This record gives sequence, structure tokens and C-alpha cells, in this order.
Amino acid sequence: MTDLLLRDVRVENAPDPTDVRIEAGRIEETGPGLTAPDGTEVFDGEGRVLLPGLVETHLHPDKALLDAIRPNPTGTLDGAIRVTGELKRQFTHDSVRARAEQVLAMCVRNGTTTVRAHPDVDPIAGLTGLEVMLELRAAWADLVSIQIVAFPQEGIFKAPDTHTLLRKSLDAGADVVGGCTYAERDLADCKRHVELVLDLAVEYGVPADMHCDFSDDASDPRFALAGFIAEQTAARGLGGRVALGHVTSLGALPPAERRAVAADLAQAGVAIVPLPATDLFLGGRGDEQAVRRAITPVRDLWDAGVLMACSNNNIRNAFTPYGTGDLLDTALLLARLAHLSGPADLHRVLRLVTHDAALVAGLLDYGVHVGARADLVIVDTRDYDAVLLERPVRTAVIKAGRIVARSTYSSELTVPVRALEA
Ligand SMILES: [Zn+2]
Repeated sequence: MTDLLLRDVRVENAPDPTDVRIEAGRIEETGPGLTAPDGTEVFDGEGRVLLPGLVETHLHPDKALLDAIRPNPTGTLDGAIRVTGELKRQFTHDSVRARAEQVLAMCVRNGTTTVRAHPDVDPIAGLTGLEVMLELRAAWADLVSIQIVAFPQEGIFKAPDTHTLLRKSLDAGADVVGGCTYAERDLADCKRHVELVLDLAVEYGVPADMHCDFSDDASDPRFALAGFIAEQTAARGLGGRVALGHVTSLGALPPAERRAVAADLAQAGVAIVPLPATDLFLGGRGDEQAVRRAITPVRDLWDAGVLMACSNNNIRNAFTPYGTGDLLDTALLLARLAHLSGPADLHRVLRLVTHDAALVAGLLDYGVHVGARADLVIVDTRDYDAVLLERPVRTAVIKAGRIVARSTYSSELTVPVRALEA
């Protein structure tokens, strides 16, 4: 493996540029004026900001890019599940693989070095999505690390045989057990769903990552399970190994109630992952005036000490008909939706797709320090505060010490400003 020396880069918000030397896929040394052994590739960052690689904790590559085939007829969550269920019947290994690879390429070009993928595992698609992702986890290993979540989109009790399919997925090498806690007929089954997923997490020694409480409000108790999940997580000693996507209904609870749930989540070590592109698109559909933003209460969760990430979820399908796979875009969307602004907030939002996302995904040796795995991205700005606001071009994406993607962009004014006479 060729080693790499990055010259003249600004490590996150460090005031001065430095050099970073990478050997055997890890950061070996940082500091100004480093020398490198013969044969080391040298990349001049020209003072640009160096970030740790972006971490996508929640993505559905198997269902991406379906919007061109058939869009969501109603714009609702039910409509999205229905139309995607119909399209899934036509899935073939090759068609899923082609779309998934297109999306992975988007992610890598945008600086993402780890993707937690949630392929559907259900009686409709069977194990097709899972098998494709197992194949891509190996095929794409030099470009991006892939974690695979076995995701029961259609429910477990409502969709017979799904329990067996989840076990087969974990036996085949899925890294995480997924859940879709609202996809059951009644509250009792939703709770059994949660318990079964967490029991599988214990049995297989894997983390759990569930879709949860994805509704405008908590009036239907199937969409108000975060507190129950916190309790069940604590009871099984799974703290730090459970993540929940969406959790939008929490934002509709009265302040004291939602802060109590947030405190329970923090105490239990349950992480929350807002999926703002989807949450915003599918949320508030029944509102005829003062349409809700339908986003989890980020500030309250932060204040309570809940670990969070932010992720893309779906790219151009019935759940989210937009997206380029750029986590900086999606993080900025969350900032807009959750009234987050100013350098302190925006630095924290950036952590939702870097350091905090890495904790959610359980990544070891993450970051830009000696000994860290060299998963990095150089962005085309010299100003750390501008990273989220400008979402600069990803000049170079580095996976395990090797440059795996490069981008350039140029723009200039072509007419001079007039010189006025004094
Ligand atoms: Zn999802």
C-alpha cells in the first residue's frame, strides 16, 4: 500500500495548517514540515480544511433511485410504503445492485467513508437486498466501509416469516439488527416487535437500529415508543448499542413530557438519528395550515445528553424524492429545520455527520489524530466555519490512507467592476 503525506491542511478548526503523514492506512504523524520516506505519495492541501470522513448512519441503497420509475402517489408514509412494496416485487439482484452502486458512488464522491445500509428483509424482497449489500460490502471495501442492517420494513408479526429472514440475515453476516417499530397492526405487536429486535441484538451480540415514532404527533401509541425502547434497552444492558431513526413525534409532545423522554433516552444510552430530508417530505401531510416541520427536537435531545447523528435515509424514491448523497447538504437542512445557527450550533451539527455519527456507528479509531484510521476528506475551503454553510467541493476523499475520489470546481466573474471617476 502506498503511503500518503498530506501537506498544508487545516485539521478541523485548528488555527494553523499542518502536515499529516499516513502509513499503512493510519495516521502516523502530524505537524508542520514533515518528511516522508521515498515512494510516499504527496498531496498538497494548499491550506484547505481536513475533516474525518463523513459517516452515513442510515441509508437505503436497495430502494434508492426508484422515483424515476414510480413516484409516491400521495406524498404520505403509507403511500411510500405501498408504492415501494409494489416496486419491490420486481427487484432482481442485478437491478438492486446497479442502483445501490450508483448511490454508493454518490456517497463516496461526497466524502462519505462509512455507510450503514438498511436493506429491506421481508417476504416481498426476501433476502435480495441483503445479499446485494453483502456482495457490495466486500466489493467496495477499498472505497467505503459498509455496515449492513437487516431491516424489516413490512413489520415482523404483520409479515410472516420475517423473523426467520432476520435470523438468516444475521447468520449470513448482517452487522446490525433493524426494526420498524410502527409497522404492526396494534400497540401490543409493536412492543413485541421492539422486544424481539432487542432480544436478537443480545443473542447475536450485534447493535440494534430501529425506525421509530415516525409520525407528526404521538396520538397513535404505536408512534410513541421511544420511552418504552429506552426502558427495554436498559433492561438488556444494551446502552450505547441502540439507535433510533426519525423519532419525529417526540417533537409534538408538550415540553415537560418530551424532556422526560429525552432524559430516559440519554440515561439508557439510546441514540437518535433524525432523517430530515424524509421527515420534512413525508411530515405534516395532513396539515392544511401552519404545516409542521415534523422533526425530532434536536435541542432538547442535546440538552438531555442524547447522542445523535444525522443521515440521508432515502435518495430519490417514494420516501424522499431528492438527494445527492451529500451529508453536508442534509446536515444543513437539519440546522434549518431545527433552528440551529451560529458557529457553536453549526460545529455541533457537523459532528452529527462526523464524530457523533462515528459513535452511533460504533467506529473505533475515528478522527484526525495519530493512530486514527485514515478515513478523511479535504474540503475546498480554508474556513472551518464555512464547511456547513458553503458545503464546499470535496477536493480529495481518503479511505484507509488512499485517495479514492477527487473533485474540482471553478467559478469566476468574467466582467470587471467599472472603475468610477472620483
Ligand atoms: Zn430508513
